[in-house]
Amino acid sequence: MTHNDLQATTLHHRIAHLPVDEAGYYGRFGGAYIPEILYSNVERLKQAYHRYADDPEFNAQYERLLRDYVGRPSPLYRADRLSQHYATNIYLKREDLNHTGAHKINNAIGSVLLAQRMGKHRIIAETGAGQHGVATATVCALMGLECVVYMGATDVARQRPNVERMKMLGATVVPVTSGNATLKDATNEAIRDWCCHPDTTFYVIGSTVGPHPYPEMVARFQSVISREMQSQLLGQTGRDYPDAVIACVGGGSNAAGAFYYFIDRPEVRLIAAEAGGKGVDSGETAATIQKGTEGIIHGARTLVMQTSDGQITEPYSISAGLDYPGIGPLHAHLAQTGREEVIAINDDEALRSAYLLTSLEGIIPALESAHALGVLDHVKFLPDDVVVVNLSGRGDKDMETYLSQKEKGKSQKY
Ligand SMILES: *Cc1c(COP(=O)(O)O)cnc(C)c1O
Repeated sequence: MTHNDLQATTLHHRIAHLPVDEAGYYGRFGGAYIPEILYSNVERLKQAYHRYADDPEFNAQYERLLRDYVGRPSPLYRADRLSQHYATNIYLKREDLNHTGAHKINNAIGSVLLAQRMGKHRIIAETGAGQHGVATATVCALMGLECVVYMGATDVARQRPNVERMKMLGATVVPVTSGNATLKDATNEAIRDWCCHPDTTFYVIGSTVGPHPYPEMVARFQSVISREMQSQLLGQTGRDYPDAVIACVGGGSNAAGAFYYFIDRPEVRLIAAEAGGKGVDSGETAATIQKGTEGIIHGARTLVMQTSDGQITEPYSISAGLDYPGIGPLHAHLAQTGREEVIAINDDEALRSAYLLTSLEGIIPALESAHALGVLDHVKFLPDDVVVVNLSGRGDKDMETYLSQKEKGKSQKY
């Protein structure tokens, strides 16, 4: 049994910059399709979120940790040699310089602070590449909370350094062997755990997915990215908005944060890079916006990669963080209404872009972020354009993949 009647409660608070209604719908996408057993849990989360979203004390603590613990604001760096290569002005929003190496920590801090306010002592999370697991385990260590991370067994094998980090941070890592043993399966397992421990446990979701209010809440915790961009752009270019913002989308949280304050500014192009895998029509892809059809996954109505009778299709991407068969409802909506442009970047294109950034700028990007960089080969910008690429994470976790691909592709030039 699923139901979707969360709109009954009063709403104390509206988010100005997201096209979301009180029931968590972004156009036709979103909502909260959850089993009965989770209903009161999701309801309590929603109440706590609305209570603390504008609470000065909560926000002061959140902002202080972002500044002193994460190291924010993250720099906005004009990449001169990359700009020259593409004959335009490219700025990198350096989320890779955050503590733990990606944007995930912004949300982990906000969510765990909320869990603490709600009196929960046990935190669970799902993780793909391991970045969200590491971020959550990190904040749990900081706050002295128990942490259990579900991770597909395939990802446990291909993201070993992050598994070791989570363990050192005191988290229990549970390898999940169902399905493809990747992110979707880890998420299923985390939801199952939440159903079994609804009173003690807070589920920290790592992207703008899941039932309302998660997509809105996670976008809000990530919105600091575009908030900082505005003042940084103003200082560096004399204008508080760019001509385009480019971000990769797995579930869509770094993109949601990078787009947030520009969604209602039509002069800013919003460009989402999804994972093409071996090609959008190869059958081995994670290009959910282009290949997905409407369905329900992990508590939200959105675009889902599925067969005609509703069986989820296994996605594929070289990048564990983009290997997800759904997409956050915000992006499904922005893409459907034409506000957001969507470009699929294939494995080989992402690899080439990663090597290009490394050789020109001395920055090794996460494989996920390399998909955003891949857009620069697809879209021709003007010499005066200001283009911000959200560099969602650093490449340390991907070294094995980079080196093995380089071996394989010796004849090709990456
Ligand atoms: C997790 C991750 C992503 C994908 O998740 P979104 O929610 O789509 O941002 C992208 N980049 C990095 C570095 C990640 O760790």
